[in-house]
Amino acid sequence: MTAALKPIDKILTTEQVDAWVAAERAAGHRVGFTCGAFDVMHAGHAQYLAEARAACDRLLVAVNSDSSIQRYKNPLRPVNPWKERAFVVAAMASTDCVTVLEEDRPLSLILRWKPDFYIKGGDYASAALRSGSAVEAYGGQTVVIPPQFAASTTAMFERIQALAIHAAPEQSQTAEPRGLVLLDRDGTLVRDVPFDPSRIEILPEVIGALRKLQDAGFRLCLVSNQQGIGLGYFGYRDFIDGNRRLLRALGAAGISITKIYFCPHSWGETCKCRKPAPGMLLRAMREQNVPASRCVMIGDSVDDMAAAKAAGCTGFYLGPIHPAYSSCSIAEATDKIVEAIPK
Ligand SMILES: [Mg+2]
Repeated sequence: MTAALKPIDKILTTEQVDAWVAAERAAGHRVGFTCGAFDVMHAGHAQYLAEARAACDRLLVAVNSDSSIQRYKNPLRPVNPWKERAFVVAAMASTDCVTVLEEDRPLSLILRWKPDFYIKGGDYASAALRSGSAVEAYGGQTVVIPPQFAASTTAMFERIQALAIHAAPEQSQTAEPRGLVLLDRDGTLVRDVPFDPSRIEILPEVIGALRKLQDAGFRLCLVSNQQGIGLGYFGYRDFIDGNRRLLRALGAAGISITKIYFCPHSWGETCKCRKPAPGMLLRAMREQNVPASRCVMIGDSVDDMAAAKAAGCTGFYLGPIHPAYSSCSIAEATDKIVEAIPK
């Protein structure tokens, strides 16, 4: 039984695969062949390999060499070296044999071993484009496996980057802050326009107000609803790029934002972080270790104010005339905050 093989024993050189294919053929097994980078394994890979194995009797996987990935994918990839990627693929119950793919395309390996099935992930159109006709020419068959998970390594990296932006406060900020000022982003710090990471327009008075708060000993954090991520209008990477631009512009003015809290969920999703829910504010107070009595929220929407109220802190409303809230400018809010929260 191949299942009893140790992962390392499934990893063969190109020449060893010649003998392996011949032996499997002789035993009456139909060989399936697939290839890929398999850099950071996720559910999509596992599903793909399981279905590939189900389509044949023995599954041979050619894992792209490091240099082929650098050539065709990204000079900074792979994250994991071939030896480790091949080992993880070999450790899957679905795989029977693992070898290296040195070239960018698998055609020469396909023609060498003439597998019964050339198996690919994705859609039929992409399969038809490439090695499909060569496989049919020798009597093989192309099998396409559609993905069942949205998982992708690139999406994982974006998510990890987003988490990194949420990193713990900088070491230098150990001094007890006078208070915590939670700032809405869109419409409060920057012009509220359809999201475009390349265009961040800081509103008038913002730089002066934030510098005054910082100089008075307040810690500054952003608290932002970003349902555009949940709705698929833009990705984490766009959001990170946009914020990087904003942080750089504020940094150039000597303003340091300790942390960005954001809610990536869409309206349809149930979450505790999207304002008017207080989740992000409560988390910020907890993490920054500042009590509600020394925490304020500045925002331009009634949702910002409702979140502040629910979190037990004072809200300063910058939005249009509203029956329940008196509006002020960010400069006026700053003066009131400095006055209201003693050193
Ligand atoms: Mg806003």
